[in-house]
Amino acid sequence: MEPLFSIPISRRDFMKLAGLTMAGAALGGAVPEAEGAAAPTPKADFSQTELPVLLDVDVCVVGGGSAGTAAAVVAGRRGAKTVLVERNIALGGLSTQGCVYPCMPTFAYGSDTPYITDLNKRMEGQGIAPLLGVETPTFYGGGAGQYSPDYLSYTYDEMCAEAEVEILYNASLVGAIVEEGKIRSCIVQTVAGLGLINAKVFIDATGDALLSRFAGVPVEKGAEKTGRNQPMSLRFEMSGIDVQRAHRFFKEEFKDTWSLEQPSYFFEFAKWKKTEDFFKSGVKSGELTEDDILYIQAFAIIGKPGTMSMNCPELPPLRFSSTDALSLSRSVSFGMRMQRRLADFFVKHIKGFEKAQISRMASQVGVRESWRVKGKYYMTADDYFKARHFPGAVCRTAYPIDIHDVALDLQKKLKKGDYYEIPYDALVVNELSNLMVAGRCASGSFAAQASFRIQPTCMSMGEAAGIAAAWAIDHGIEVNALRWEDIPREQRSYVSEG
Ligand SMILES: Cc1cc2nc3c(=O)[nH]c(=O)nc-3n(C[C@H](O)[C@H](O)[C@H](O)COP(=O)(O)OP(=O)(O)OC[C@H]3O[C@@H](n4cnc5c(N)ncnc54)[C@H](O)[C@@H]3O)c2cc1C
Repeated sequence: MEPLFSIPISRRDFMKLAGLTMAGAALGGAVPEAEGAAAPTPKADFSQTELPVLLDVDVCVVGGGSAGTAAAVVAGRRGAKTVLVERNIALGGLSTQGCVYPCMPTFAYGSDTPYITDLNKRMEGQGIAPLLGVETPTFYGGGAGQYSPDYLSYTYDEMCAEAEVEILYNASLVGAIVEEGKIRSCIVQTVAGLGLINAKVFIDATGDALLSRFAGVPVEKGAEKTGRNQPMSLRFEMSGIDVQRAHRFFKEEFKDTWSLEQPSYFFEFAKWKKTEDFFKSGVKSGELTEDDILYIQAFAIIGKPGTMSMNCPELPPLRFSSTDALSLSRSVSFGMRMQRRLADFFVKHIKGFEKAQISRMASQVGVRESWRVKGKYYMTADDYFKARHFPGAVCRTAYPIDIHDVALDLQKKLKKGDYYEIPYDALVVNELSNLMVAGRCASGSFAAQASFRIQPTCMSMGEAAGIAAAWAIDHGIEVNALRWEDIPREQRSYVSEG
């Protein structure tokens, strides 16, 4: 049986930070757009336009990633008539279409909310773990999670069907109609043209706060000091790898015994130093560029023997921005060329990769951070460092502030056993009474988002949004007036221990 493991391939100019990285130096230069202040979102005024009403629902969730799918499934389970609008034809967002796997742990005990526990069970039920003989098939939550991305999309689709959620695949949000402090409708582009979705509550889980921006909610983007967003990556998979042979290669050439000894779901960064010269030799020979070796990493994938997920290439942050349309688009072509060079280099120089080839390219650019809303509560690094708890908390995490590229004085990790909580008010906004925001675009500073952006936390935020939306509708309360603590304990997905 082939072992599952990760190859900590390379690092350059990154400081090791307790298993995570932070760039050592603030880089000069400018991203190709105005820095700092959020650029206004171009809007078309549809309020006087006759558009067909596609759906009239209780809850409209836009974006079917980790956060949005959780929100829709839970709202549906709680009896709300729910639609989930997704521009792709598979759910999961970055966690499936962005090839971002495995899932990171929260490092906080007791962080698994009921939705995550349920998802864990369903994924184990797919028979993936027995197939690979993995003893600890932790999927999500407190432990780092290995999963098969395609099974995750199937599972999400099934969960939506069970919860009677209407999924509107292949539909892109293109606008919103706001009336009297509420979103009345969102406008979607489908194969049939433009259409309206009317709802009582809207949940923005687009990752880019797009619905919020269309509705005029204040947003932020990038680091406070530089205005630069976190760097993006364009991830890919390679198949046909003799994983054991590759593992031996790293063990023998670089004395990397560490990852061999770890359980299959574990991965680590600490030994990268040892592989640095190896990749630099590729730059010297002209096979690779300096950009190509900025950040290289690979993980085995559960359910896909002989295939590895490449957490690279990282797109040069001074050249590409996740909040500029042309730049984002150009980064795809640039990233594809980087992928080809890296893959060729792996095949030529890493034993075990001789017959390997690229077998999948992400269909969603790996955007770590773009726009974040400024909600009723605005999370900051202080919440993290003070391990702040809230009576109205919806989940907990201790995942570090994981910033690529920008140097900030944020290297301290929480004490073992400490965690901070995310308050309900970080999911609602002052300006609109029926809008909720969940996932990586929830309300918080650049540094705060660098911690709460990981998949399990996005899920728990989405779950809470789904519960609150259904509860608010049932009780005739506006979501931004609701207090999470007023929902009976047994109906909440998370109750703060204070
Ligand atoms: C390179 C990289 C590596 C990472 N590594 C890890 C990791 O190892 N482990 C981990 O746990 N986390 C990791 N993260 C973070 C994590 O994957 C994401 O932050 C998280 O998945 C975000 O979930 P989300 O639901 O908020 O957003 P997304 O997953 O981005 O979902 C947003 C959804 O909205 C849809 N959408 C967007 N706009 C529209 C529109 N106009 N109309 C309709 N639909 C729309 C998208 O198609 C997508 O499905 C990584 C992120 C990146 C980029």
